[in-house]
Amino acid sequence: MQRILNYINGQLVESASGACLDNFEPATGKVYSLVPDSNETDVDRAVAAAQCAFPEWSRTPAAKRSQILCRVAELIERDLERLALAECVDNGKPLTLARSLDIPRAATNLRFFGTAVLHTASECHPMDETALNYTLRKPRGIAGVISPWNLPLYLFTWKVAPALACGNTVVAKPSEITPMTAFLLSELCRQAGLPPGVLNIVHGRGQTAGAAIVRHPRINTIAFTGGTVTGREIARTAAPMFKKVGLELGGKNPNIIFADADSEVTVRESLRAAFANQGQICLCGSRVFVERPAYESFVERFVSAARTLRVGDPLEPDTDQGALVSAAHRDKVLSYLQLARDEGGTIRCGGGPAAPPNDRCRGGYFVEPTVITDLPVDCRVNREEIFGPVVTITPFTSEDEVVEYANGTDYGLSASLWTRDVARAHRVADRINSGTVWVNCWLLRDLRVPFGGMKSSGVGREGGQEAIRFFTEPKNVCVRVAE
Ligand code: NAD
Repeated sequence: MQRILNYINGQLVESASGACLDNFEPATGKVYSLVPDSNETDVDRAVAAAQCAFPEWSRTPAAKRSQILCRVAELIERDLERLALAECVDNGKPLTLARSLDIPRAATNLRFFGTAVLHTASECHPMDETALNYTLRKPRGIAGVISPWNLPLYLFTWKVAPALACGNTVVAKPSEITPMTAFLLSELCRQAGLPPGVLNIVHGRGQTAGAAIVRHPRINTIAFTGGTVTGREIARTAAPMFKKVGLELGGKNPNIIFADADSEVTVRESLRAAFANQGQICLCGSRVFVERPAYESFVERFVSAARTLRVGDPLEPDTDQGALVSAAHRDKVLSYLQLARDEGGTIRCGGGPAAPPNDRCRGGYFVEPTVITDLPVDCRVNREEIFGPVVTITPFTSEDEVVEYANGTDYGLSASLWTRDVARAHRVADRINSGTVWVNCWLLRDLRVPFGGMKSSGVGREGGQEAIRFFTEPKNVCVRVAE
């Protein structure tokens, strides 16, 4: 059985204790590899390596850092098929999605930040004839990066790339549920000539390896992507230590459809927004609101489109929906389907576990794409993050009403709205409390824009210059120029 290894000081090593966790293939429910169950000792070793590498890496010219990160991007592209297959097996997502979204975006992250640091500028504030103030941006030291399982390599590199590009060294922990592509990345970093200790990858559980990263006194920056409950715990630990913390957390995103929107496009794109990656994307539009005159026909078309989604073996090219990531997560999603019934919802399609698509997948974690109507907007199913192939549809009658519905959860990550009325689009976008609002589109990502959530969806913004600001420390120099 394949053994995943930690990547510490440029070496691939077992955990200090030798303990391992089982790594399951979600499509089959079988253990297919072993992951180091790392603890504080492994994190200490990784931090020692990162500390040792920091002076040289932080002084390495940006052009050289850029060259190495772009080389890693090239190697990801070279190994796209192998990485996509690994991500599909590890996560349960369709191979076609891993190939078209996850892995290409990981390469893009490295190239984007690898080149962004070649184009940074520093501010200068002249004090008339008296003095010049200029601001340098210095790498902060050792960054701790902790990432989730839903877009494993994509979200791992989204934080690792800017941290390294800015001259920090990194101790990173991918999700213990989907560790494989980060492990394969370790080998590519070695091939690309990344110096030992610059990036260290410690595998293991959140409560042990993750918590050890968060509380380590030499790690002064924490970039976390994951659930809101975990984010709260991390904030509680990090705050008294005065760490800089970025939190990208959960979502319960509204998808608002006005009656004048193009009905064919809205059905197609709302389906993608609801069910892409089995609904396991923090930006999924899991609450659909449709203006009254269009409601009945939208529901009918949307439900018949959802029924055509093929739940299948993730390895098959015509599979639309793969397996959910774990048995525990499948059970959580199924418990919300029961709750929806208890709360008075009508299940229009789906509503339970999906039949295994073939013999190989007999033990897999498959759930039917599910559409629910007739739920009160403020019920738990409409307020809590389910993070699965489950969408609710609710009618509305006015702009004011739908803005209230959209803002009626603790989350504020993203929203979509669909209309041909330009003035209304701007007006409603302005009133929705979320970090991103998409108009007539979904998940159209420009890596230069600030990305992040409001309310319980997170703290801080990343992407583009925001990420460079996050991973650097401003230092002001005031030079008196008057005699
Ligand atoms: P999670 O919070 O359970 O785990 C995320 C990571 O944190 C994992 O690596 C885990 O091992 C680690 N962890 C867990 N407990 C920890 C602790 N006490 N200290 C340190 N680390 C700890 O989240 P998940 O289930 O892996 O991911 C799904 C969640 O992530 C969803 O809520 C989703 O919305 C969110 N998410 C948010 C974004 C975003 O950009 N806002 C992107 C993707 C996923």
